[in-house]
Amino acid sequence: MRKQIAAANWKMNLTYQQGEKLLDEILKAGFDLKEHQYALFAVPFPYLLMTRSEVEEEFSSHFAAAAQNCHHKKSGAFTGEVSAEMLHSMNINYCVVGHSERREYNGETNSILAEKVNACLDNFITPVFCCGEPLSIRESGTQNDYVAAQLKESLFHLPAEKISTLIIAYEPIWAIGTGKTASTAQAQEMHQYLRSVLADQYGKEVADLIPILYGGSVKAANAKELFASPDVDGGLVGGASLVAAEFVEIIRALK
Ligand code: PEP
Repeated sequence: MRKQIAAANWKMNLTYQQGEKLLDEILKAGFDLKEHQYALFAVPFPYLLMTRSEVEEEFSSHFAAAAQNCHHKKSGAFTGEVSAEMLHSMNINYCVVGHSERREYNGETNSILAEKVNACLDNFITPVFCCGEPLSIRESGTQNDYVAAQLKESLFHLPAEKISTLIIAYEPIWAIGTGKTASTAQAQEMHQYLRSVLADQYGKEVADLIPILYGGSVKAANAKELFASPDVDGGLVGGASLVAAEFVEIIRALK
Protein backbone atom coordinates (compact mmCIF):
# COMPACT_ATOMS: atom_id res chain seq x y z
CA MET A 1 0.00 0.00 0.00
CA ARG A 2 1.05 3.59 -0.68
CA LYS A 3 2.55 5.42 2.34
CA GLN A 4 -0.09 7.04 4.57
CA ILE A 5 1.20 10.06 6.48
CA ALA A 6 0.02 12.36 9.25
CA ALA A 7 2.23 15.45 9.12
CA ALA A 8 2.14 18.10 11.83
CA ASN A 9 3.02 21.67 10.86
CA TRP A 10 3.72 23.67 14.01
CA LYS A 11 4.44 26.83 11.99
CA MET A 12 5.83 29.60 14.28
CA ASN A 13 4.08 28.34 17.40
CA LEU A 14 5.12 26.98 20.82
CA THR A 15 8.15 27.65 22.96
CA TYR A 16 10.83 24.96 23.10
CA GLN A 17 9.42 23.69 26.41
CA GLN A 18 5.86 23.65 25.10
CA GLY A 19 7.07 21.74 22.03
CA GLU A 20 8.81 19.12 24.19
CA LYS A 21 5.70 18.71 26.33
CA LEU A 22 3.45 18.34 23.28
CA LEU A 23 5.71 15.66 21.80
CA ASP A 24 5.82 13.81 25.14
CA GLU A 25 2.04 13.84 25.36
CA ILE A 26 1.63 12.60 21.80
CA LEU A 27 4.28 9.87 22.09
CA LYS A 28 3.02 8.54 25.39
CA ALA A 29 -0.35 7.79 23.76
CA GLY A 30 1.35 4.79 22.10
CA PHE A 31 0.75 3.71 18.51
CA ASP A 32 0.56 0.46 16.68
CA LEU A 33 1.51 1.74 13.27
CA LYS A 34 1.25 -0.46 10.21
CA GLU A 35 4.20 -0.82 7.85
CA HIS A 36 2.92 1.94 5.49
CA GLN A 37 1.89 4.47 8.19
CA TYR A 38 4.09 7.42 9.20
CA ALA A 39 3.94 10.58 11.30
CA LEU A 40 6.04 13.67 10.59
CA PHE A 41 6.60 16.71 12.76
CA ALA A 42 7.49 19.89 10.85
CA VAL A 43 8.86 22.05 13.63
CA PRO A 44 10.79 25.34 13.83
CA PHE A 45 14.50 24.97 12.96
CA PRO A 46 15.78 25.30 16.57
CA TYR A 47 13.56 22.37 17.65
CA LEU A 48 14.65 19.90 14.95
CA LEU A 49 17.27 17.97 16.91
CA MET A 50 15.13 17.73 20.03
CA THR A 51 12.20 16.52 17.93
CA ARG A 52 14.34 14.05 16.03
CA SER A 53 15.75 12.46 19.14
CA GLU A 54 12.35 12.31 20.92
CA VAL A 55 10.45 10.70 18.06
CA GLU A 56 13.21 8.39 16.87
CA GLU A 57 13.76 7.04 20.34
CA GLU A 58 10.12 5.96 20.54
CA PHE A 59 9.17 5.00 17.03
CA SER A 60 12.33 4.81 14.89
CA SER A 61 11.66 5.16 11.20
CA HIS A 62 7.88 5.60 11.39
CA PHE A 63 8.08 8.99 13.11
CA ALA A 64 10.40 11.72 11.89
CA ALA A 65 11.23 15.38 12.32
CA ALA A 66 10.80 17.64 9.29
CA ALA A 67 11.93 21.16 8.50
CA GLN A 68 9.30 23.69 7.46
CA ASN A 69 11.50 25.25 4.80
CA CYS A 70 15.01 25.40 3.39
CA HIS A 71 16.85 27.83 1.14
CA HIS A 72 17.04 27.12 -2.58
CA LYS A 73 20.78 27.89 -2.90
CA LYS A 74 23.51 25.51 -1.82
CA SER A 75 25.32 27.95 0.50
CA GLY A 76 26.55 31.52 0.67
CA ALA A 77 25.74 35.01 1.90
CA PHE A 78 22.10 34.45 2.87
CA THR A 79 21.97 35.62 6.48
CA GLY A 80 19.35 33.87 8.55
CA GLU A 81 18.71 31.10 6.04
CA VAL A 82 19.14 27.33 6.37
CA SER A 83 20.32 25.12 3.51
CA ALA A 84 19.22 21.60 2.63
CA GLU A 85 22.82 20.48 3.15
CA MET A 86 22.68 21.77 6.74
CA LEU A 87 19.47 19.83 7.34
CA HIS A 88 21.02 16.69 5.91
CA SER A 89 24.05 17.14 8.16
CA MET A 90 21.63 17.03 11.13
CA ASN A 91 20.03 13.82 9.82
CA ILE A 92 16.80 15.55 8.91
CA ASN A 93 15.17 13.62 6.10
CA TYR A 94 12.00 15.63 5.32
CA CYS A 95 11.30 19.26 4.48
CA VAL A 96 8.06 21.09 3.70
CA VAL A 97 8.47 23.04 0.45
CA GLY A 98 6.13 25.71 -0.92
CA HIS A 99 3.66 26.08 1.91
CA SER A 100 1.09 28.69 0.85
CA GLU A 101 2.15 30.98 3.71
CA ARG A 102 5.71 31.04 2.35
CA ARG A 103 4.44 31.55 -1.19
CA GLU A 104 2.40 34.52 0.06
CA TYR A 105 4.66 36.17 2.66
CA ASN A 106 8.09 35.24 1.26
CA GLY A 107 7.38 35.54 -2.45
CA GLU A 108 8.20 31.92 -3.23
CA THR A 109 7.43 31.27 -6.88
CA ASN A 110 6.99 27.96 -8.69
CA SER A 111 10.48 28.32 -10.17
CA ILE A 112 12.15 29.00 -6.80
CA LEU A 113 10.28 26.01 -5.43
CA ALA A 114 11.67 23.87 -8.26
CA GLU A 115 15.14 24.84 -7.01
CA LYS A 116 14.19 24.02 -3.41
CA VAL A 117 12.93 20.60 -4.48
CA ASN A 118 16.25 20.01 -6.26
CA ALA A 119 18.22 21.19 -3.22
CA CYS A 120 16.32 18.74 -1.01
CA LEU A 121 16.73 15.80 -3.36
CA ASP A 122 20.43 16.54 -3.84
CA ASN A 123 20.72 16.21 -0.05
CA PHE A 124 18.65 13.04 0.39
CA ILE A 125 15.73 14.98 1.87
CA THR A 126 12.16 14.11 0.91
CA PRO A 127 10.24 17.27 0.01
CA VAL A 128 6.66 17.57 1.21
CA PHE A 129 5.61 19.72 -1.73
CA CYS A 130 2.58 21.92 -1.04
CA CYS A 131 0.15 23.12 -3.67
CA GLY A 132 -3.35 24.59 -3.56
CA GLU A 133 -5.54 27.34 -4.90
CA PRO A 134 -6.80 30.59 -3.33
CA LEU A 135 -10.53 31.20 -2.90
CA SER A 136 -10.83 33.42 -6.00
CA ILE A 137 -9.53 30.59 -8.19
CA ARG A 138 -11.89 28.06 -6.59
CA GLU A 139 -14.80 30.44 -7.14
CA SER A 140 -13.88 30.87 -10.79
CA GLY A 141 -13.82 27.08 -11.20
CA THR A 142 -10.24 27.01 -12.53
CA GLN A 143 -8.65 25.24 -9.55
CA ASN A 144 -7.58 22.15 -11.52
CA ASP A 145 -5.52 24.13 -14.04
CA TYR A 146 -4.05 26.31 -11.28
CA VAL A 147 -2.85 23.42 -9.14
CA ALA A 148 -1.69 21.36 -12.13
CA ALA A 149 0.48 24.35 -13.18
CA GLN A 150 2.08 24.39 -9.71
CA LEU A 151 3.06 20.74 -10.12
CA LYS A 152 4.27 21.17 -13.69
CA GLU A 153 6.38 24.25 -12.99
CA SER A 154 7.98 23.00 -9.78
CA LEU A 155 8.17 19.24 -10.25
CA PHE A 156 7.96 18.10 -13.85
CA HIS A 157 11.64 18.68 -14.56
CA LEU A 158 12.32 15.68 -12.31
CA PRO A 159 12.90 12.21 -13.71
CA ALA A 160 10.43 9.49 -12.69
CA GLU A 161 12.79 7.90 -10.17
CA LYS A 162 13.03 11.20 -8.27
CA ILE A 163 9.41 12.37 -8.36
CA SER A 164 8.29 8.95 -7.17
CA THR A 165 10.05 9.65 -3.83
CA LEU A 166 8.15 12.90 -3.15
CA ILE A 167 5.21 13.61 -0.88
CA ILE A 168 2.64 16.08 -2.21
CA ALA A 169 0.24 18.02 0.02
CA TYR A 170 -2.86 19.56 -1.54
CA GLU A 171 -3.91 22.49 0.64
CA PRO A 172 -6.68 24.73 -0.67
CA ILE A 173 -5.71 28.13 0.76
CA TRP A 174 -9.31 28.95 1.64
CA ALA A 175 -9.33 25.97 4.02
CA ILE A 176 -6.05 26.68 5.87
CA GLY A 177 -6.58 27.91 9.41
CA THR A 178 -10.13 28.98 8.57
CA GLY A 179 -12.05 26.08 10.08
CA LYS A 180 -13.50 25.57 6.57
CA THR A 181 -12.51 22.09 5.41
CA ALA A 182 -12.87 21.02 1.80
CA SER A 183 -15.60 18.40 1.69
CA THR A 184 -14.42 14.83 1.40
CA ALA A 185 -15.76 14.83 -2.17
CA GLN A 186 -13.85 18.04 -3.06
CA ALA A 187 -10.62 16.63 -1.60
CA GLN A 188 -10.96 13.27 -3.36
CA GLU A 189 -11.84 14.97 -6.65
CA MET A 190 -8.70 17.16 -6.59
CA HIS A 191 -6.43 14.35 -5.39
CA GLN A 192 -7.69 12.03 -8.13
CA TYR A 193 -7.19 14.80 -10.68
CA LEU A 194 -3.61 15.47 -9.46
CA ARG A 195 -2.83 11.78 -9.65
CA SER A 196 -4.10 11.75 -13.23
CA VAL A 197 -1.84 14.73 -14.04
CA LEU A 198 1.10 12.81 -12.57
CA ALA A 199 0.07 9.68 -14.49
CA ASP A 200 -0.14 11.57 -17.80
CA GLN A 201 3.43 12.76 -17.32
CA TYR A 202 5.06 9.77 -15.61
CA GLY A 203 2.70 6.81 -16.04
CA LYS A 204 0.22 5.24 -13.63
CA GLU A 205 2.79 3.14 -11.79
CA VAL A 206 4.76 6.21 -10.71
CA ALA A 207 1.62 8.25 -9.93
CA ASP A 208 0.33 5.45 -7.72
CA LEU A 209 3.48 5.58 -5.57
CA ILE A 210 3.20 9.25 -4.59
CA PRO A 211 1.36 10.01 -1.34
CA ILE A 212 -0.96 13.02 -1.70
CA LEU A 213 -1.87 14.51 1.68
CA TYR A 214 -4.82 16.81 2.25
CA GLY A 215 -4.33 19.99 4.31
CA GLY A 216 -6.84 22.56 5.47
CA SER A 217 -8.54 22.46 8.88
CA VAL A 218 -8.02 18.73 9.37
CA LYS A 219 -9.00 17.73 12.90
CA ALA A 220 -9.77 14.58 14.85
CA ALA A 221 -13.45 14.91 13.97
CA ASN A 222 -12.99 14.92 10.18
CA ALA A 223 -9.70 13.05 9.64
CA LYS A 224 -11.10 9.55 9.38
CA GLU A 225 -13.64 10.47 6.72
CA LEU A 226 -11.12 12.51 4.69
CA PHE A 227 -8.40 9.86 4.89
CA ALA A 228 -10.82 7.10 3.87
CA SER A 229 -10.95 8.52 0.33
CA PRO A 230 -8.91 6.38 -2.04
CA ASP A 231 -6.59 9.19 -3.20
CA VAL A 232 -6.20 10.97 0.14
CA ASP A 233 -3.11 9.52 1.80
CA GLY A 234 -3.21 11.39 5.09
CA GLY A 235 -2.99 15.02 6.10
CA LEU A 236 -0.78 18.05 6.64
CA VAL A 237 -2.16 19.52 9.83
CA GLY A 238 -1.62 22.98 11.32
CA GLY A 239 -3.83 24.07 14.23
CA ALA A 240 -4.96 20.61 15.35
CA SER A 241 -1.35 19.36 15.45
CA LEU A 242 -0.73 21.68 18.41
CA VAL A 243 -3.21 19.75 20.58
CA ALA A 244 -1.94 16.34 21.66
CA ALA A 245 -5.33 14.60 21.85
CA GLU A 246 -6.25 15.90 18.38
CA PHE A 247 -3.04 14.86 16.66
CA VAL A 248 -3.05 11.43 18.33
CA GLU A 249 -6.51 10.78 16.84
CA ILE A 250 -5.38 12.12 13.45
CA ILE A 251 -2.48 9.64 13.40
CA ARG A 252 -4.90 6.88 14.39
CA ALA A 253 -7.21 7.88 11.54
CA LEU A 254 -4.65 6.86 8.89
CA LYS A 255 -5.83 3.99 6.72
C1 PEP B 1 -1.26 23.98 7.35
O1 PEP B 1 -0.61 24.67 8.09
O2 PEP B 1 -0.69 23.43 6.42
C2 PEP B 1 -2.68 23.79 7.62
C3 PEP B 1 -3.36 23.00 6.84
O3 PEP B 1 -3.21 24.47 8.70
P1 PEP B 1 -4.61 24.16 9.41
O4 PEP B 1 -4.66 22.68 9.64
O5 PEP B 1 -4.59 24.95 10.66
O6 PEP B 1 -5.70 24.59 8.45
